[in-house]
Amino acid sequence: MKFCPRCGSILVPRVVDGKRYLVCPSCGYMEEVKDSTGFKVQVKVKHSPRDKLLVVSANAVPPTASKLKGVVRCPKCGHDEVLVWMQQTRAADEPPTRFYKCTRCGYTWREYA
Ligand SMILES: [Zn+2]
Ligand SMILES: [Zn+2]
Repeated sequence: MKFCPRCGSILVPRVVDGKRYLVCPSCGYMEEVKDSTGFKVQVKVKHSPRDKLLVVSANAVPPTASKLKGVVRCPKCGHDEVLVWMQQTRAADEPPTRFYKCTRCGYTWREYA
């Protein structure tokens, strides 16, 4: 770590036109770095928050879901064992929507209460 001879701030590494410099963020002092030992340019990789959102589906089965057998049939494959849960999807004063998910084919559908 090096300090600015002019103002005493910590110099930060920067690459300008392929040359390496130590630059003072406070007063603009620049010093070319000839010896590259231990010189690292910090590159911040930004991860988009959208990457995480893609995984979350609106019909993800919550841990409160319960198994229902012989009551509802899957409209896709006819299987009679489904997971069922309630979810508030609209305004708070409206009844929550009942969701079903087939345990065999994974098909998810909703039924308004
Ligand atoms: Zn300075
Ligand atoms: Zn099914």
